[in-house]
Amino acid sequence: MTVDAVIFDWGGTLTPWHDIGLVEQWSAYARAYDPSDHSLAERLAAAEVGLWREQQASRGANGTGTLDHIFIACGVDTTDVRHGPALRAYLQAWDPHTLADPDARPLLEALREEGLRIGVLSNTLWPRWHHEAVFSRDGLAPFIDAAIYSSEIPVAKPHREAFRAVVAAVGSHADRAVFVGDRPWDDVHGAQEAGMRAILVPHSRLGDQAVDIEVSPDAVVDRLGDVLSVVLAWRDVS
Ligand SMILES: [Mg+2]
Repeated sequence: MTVDAVIFDWGGTLTPWHDIGLVEQWSAYARAYDPSDHSLAERLAAAEVGLWREQQASRGANGTGTLDHIFIACGVDTTDVRHGPALRAYLQAWDPHTLADPDARPLLEALREEGLRIGVLSNTLWPRWHHEAVFSRDGLAPFIDAAIYSSEIPVAKPHREAFRAVVAAVGSHADRAVFVGDRPWDDVHGAQEAGMRAILVPHSRLGDQAVDIEVSPDAVVDRLGDVLSVVLAWRDVS
């Protein structure tokens, strides 16, 4: 089977891994929403960790949920006038950590020139509009044919239905699609279980987010840009 689509994970793949303190990120929200609530940032961070643990324990079957799940769990009133500015402050606090890998744009451009379809599948709590703003800021948006965010679907990686959704969205088929990701379990194992080939970009320091699993990626790349030669080699021998 030939290759006609390449689907990317986002965090740690199109965007390099950063070690992030969740409480610090949520502090930007808490300061704007209610500066007198000194435990709010810690409660928001703990609720987020809880959602990620649930996603892992259910193997993606229960999805990731959305930021609203966190706000509701912490007693935040999302209809309050302070919520909008607080949410913007929170997302802005992430800006330095969401910049695209320098290889990302030239890679997507080259894949597009080769006639390949390009997709994104991200386990994320964030809304689509924020991801799209990040992709536009970094010049990636014009090259992405379809993106699936777990915040919009009932499942998450490594669940097979998440991969099926993005493969369908780019108009491909699992055996013609390649997945590129930084996580052995969510990305490589999940994509292979769904019938796709998987390329591992192994530079993320997953720490306690790592799942203990032995995987055999179809390829491992030293840098994101190397995905191009791997994909073209597969396509050209098919
Ligand atoms: Mg990732």
